Amino acid sequence: MTETIKTDVLIIGAGPVGLFAVFELGLLDMKAHLIDILDRPGGQCAELYPEKPIYDIPAIPFITGQGLVDALMAQIKPFGPTFHFGEMVETVERIGDPLFRVRTDRGKEFEAKVVVIAAGGGSFQPKKPPMPGIEAYEGRSVHYAVRRMEDFRGRRILVVGGGDSALDWTLNLAPLAGRLTLLHRRDAFRAAPDSVNKMRALVANGSIDLLVGQVTALEGGDGQLSAAVVKHDDGSSTTVGCDAMLPFFGLTMKLGPVANWGIALHEGELIPVDTAAFETSVPGIFAIGDINWYPGKLKLILSGFHEVALMTQKAHRYIYPEKRLVFQYTTSSTSLQKKLGVA
Ligand SMILES: Cc1cc2nc3c(=O)[nH]c(=O)nc-3n(C[C@H](O)[C@H](O)[C@H](O)COP(=O)(O)OP(=O)(O)OC[C@H]3O[C@@H](n4cnc5c(N)ncnc54)[C@H](O)[C@@H]3O)c2cc1C
Repeated sequence: MTETIKTDVLIIGAGPVGLFAVFELGLLDMKAHLIDILDRPGGQCAELYPEKPIYDIPAIPFITGQGLVDALMAQIKPFGPTFHFGEMVETVERIGDPLFRVRTDRGKEFEAKVVVIAAGGGSFQPKKPPMPGIEAYEGRSVHYAVRRMEDFRGRRILVVGGGDSALDWTLNLAPLAGRLTLLHRRDAFRAAPDSVNKMRALVANGSIDLLVGQVTALEGGDGQLSAAVVKHDDGSSTTVGCDAMLPFFGLTMKLGPVANWGIALHEGELIPVDTAAFETSVPGIFAIGDINWYPGKLKLILSGFHEVALMTQKAHRYIYPEKRLVFQYTTSSTSLQKKLGVA
């Protein structure tokens, strides 16, 4: 039986807004767990534009997407949040007043007094490559994400793609693969130059293979892949023996399961909230960041940060109904500074 994880606040989504929520909640003694489908924190900033500079974070003239995520992770460290990566929240059920049971697609169960939906544009979903018959292998030998590296030990792996994910997983899996082949449609890569250099060094010393071309057919049976047929630009073909194929063709965003949680939606894809506390139609469930809607809403990181501060005040009433909340500044409150570990 799965053990239920109990927490004050459960945050769905570890994008910049979900991360900053940990900070504001922590200052008011509320503990948080965060769940994200991705394998790391940062949401859109880390996944879509890690190296692009952002110029409109107040008082920071410029910072890259990943830089902002790293800074947020440092800022929330004193509050020791627990992250559950590689898990998608599938169901949110009200079981008390307020108390919620939340379940993920990997079977984890949580009980939280407050749920904060910081799910951004919704769930990132892999773009599927146009390969005939690929569905028959999905989940068993075709994977769009690596959840446990050990599952790939000793296997003949075909990584397909030329971006950061394809290159990162090529480098990470190469030491434990039986044999690894990287396939891209051209001999130029969009990934970080350092990763490309490392990959080329592995090819040069014979540790991995690099192929240029496109998969035109898959061979195998009963969900188990045995080979992929690769067509090259000159019209020739190569058959690559493989037990596992990892296509990394980028991600799209879909609202996903949020639509089924019994919360009123705006135009079918955003969650309407009040602007005093950013609470949804269900008391105790809040929605902050890109996922919410109210008149005048701007999908900006700074708007999400403001929403976090107000959400926290109301969440406190659910978690500590008997306690009066005293407004304090971090500059002058010794008690807040103690929580931050600086006094
Ligand atoms: C190219 C680009 C450039 C941008 N530049 C700027 C800029 O300069 N300034 C600015 O202010 N904003 C910018 N933005 C917008 C900014 O990135 C977003 O406003 C911000 O990321 C929203 O943060 P968030 O935490 O609400 O959501 P997100 O960053 O979208 O994070 C949401 C997280 O929730 C997770 N999630 C969703 N559903 C589930 C589920 N069911 N279970 C578990 N996890 C789930 C997702 O995997 C994701 O990690 C830019 C966006 C893009 C794409």
